[in-house]
Parts: sequence; structure tokens; C-alpha cells
Amino acid sequence: MIASAAAQDDLPVWINSEIESQSDRLAALYGLPRMPIMNLQYTAEGHTAGVRIIEAEAEADLIRVHFQGDWTQESDAARQDVVRNLAHELAHVRQYASGLPVEPRFWHEGFAEAMAIEALDQCGAPCGGAPAALLRSREQQCGEALRSGYLSGRTDNDAVYGCGAIFVLAVAKASDSSVIDLYGSFAATDRSEAAMLALVQERAGRPFGLSARRFLKSDYRLVPAPQTIRDLRRGKL
Ligand SMILES: [Zn+2]
Repeated sequence: MIASAAAQDDLPVWINSEIESQSDRLAALYGLPRMPIMNLQYTAEGHTAGVRIIEAEAEADLIRVHFQGDWTQESDAARQDVVRNLAHELAHVRQYASGLPVEPRFWHEGFAEAMAIEALDQCGAPCGGAPAALLRSREQQCGEALRSGYLSGRTDNDAVYGCGAIFVLAVAKASDSSVIDLYGSFAATDRSEAAMLALVQERAGRPFGLSARRFLKSDYRLVPAPQTIRDLRRGKL
């Protein structure tokens, strides 16, 4: 791994070693041909004690991560934040293997977060990303998004990271494929919502496909969100 030190403050040593070991594990799970360059920055000043912020973005061969706030103390929660973020950004790098990721934000982020949850689940204890808890927090976020009306065309964080990830994971399970394989098929289309729904029907069957279409295009404000998500997974919306 190449870590370029463009930091305003020295990155805590534990973060560097965490990123080094976890990026190797995750890159292997994603089948990345080579490790992207990691541009890691750290700004401790100007933030409230105990508050941790990560801002990150990825390109084809580069990940930029800006740690801000109180990262000096190594803890399970802080390590979890690091590995979850890394899994998400490496998923974006993986997306570039299927060409420029020109899909709408809902699919771009939804697929990346679903890939991250899948990879952390496959990795298990060595990654320590607590994917089951991550999935629950995405379900809650999706519940918030469903309370604001239908999902089609949405770009807000609750919709894309919450429902986008939940939707993609549900489709992968119903079509008995990995999220990475599903993304590869999606990337071969025009990457629109219509193309995704056609792919869902082709891979998971017509009843599931119709149910998935309703999940995106119907208004579930009056239905308890856990029920809507459960019915999506069963293909019974
Ligand atoms: Zn992202």
C-alpha cells in the first residue's frame, strides 16, 4: 500500500496499520487487480472532543480519506468506522472495473454499500466491521426514507445508502448471485432504473420483479417500514 502523507496532522499510527491490513483483506474479497493509492489526511483541530468524522471519495486507482476530529483513541467503534468506510470506498474502486460508474447516485451508492456489507460479512471477525449491525442501521435509514414517500429518483442519503443498499442486497439474495456479479450485469445496461428493474425481473423472476418495482415506485408512508422491507425481501409487496 502506498500512503501519501499530505496530512495537516500526523495520522494516528493505529489507523495506518488498520487500513494497511484491512485493505489487503478487502481488496482480495473484491478481486481488485491492484491496490489503489491511498491519500490519507487527518485534521484534529477545530472539532469537538469525542467526535469522529470521515469524508472519503474514490476514483479508479485512488482513494482519498479525510479523518477529522478525535481519532487518537483506538476502540472497537473507531476501528469499525475505519473498516466500514474502507469497504465502501474499495467497492467504488471495484465499480470502475466495470467501466465508468455513470449510474444515478441511488444505484452508485446503493451498490457500493451493498458490496461493502457483503464483503464485511464474508470477511467476518478478521475485518470486524459488524455487518449485521451495519445492515440494521441501513434498514433504519431506509425506514426514514420510506416515510418521505416513494423512492424512485431519490438522491438523499437515507434513500441511497439505506434503501439503495437494502434493495440491492434483496435482489442479490433473490437471484442467488453476489452483489459484485449483479453490479457487473447492471453495468452492461444503460444503468437506468428501468434497466435495473428489467434485470431484477430477468434474474429473480417476474413476481419478485413486480414487487421490487412497487418498492421503488409506490408510496409506503402509511405502512410500517420493517414490514415494507420484509415484503420486499419475500417478493410480496
Ligand atoms: Zn460512496
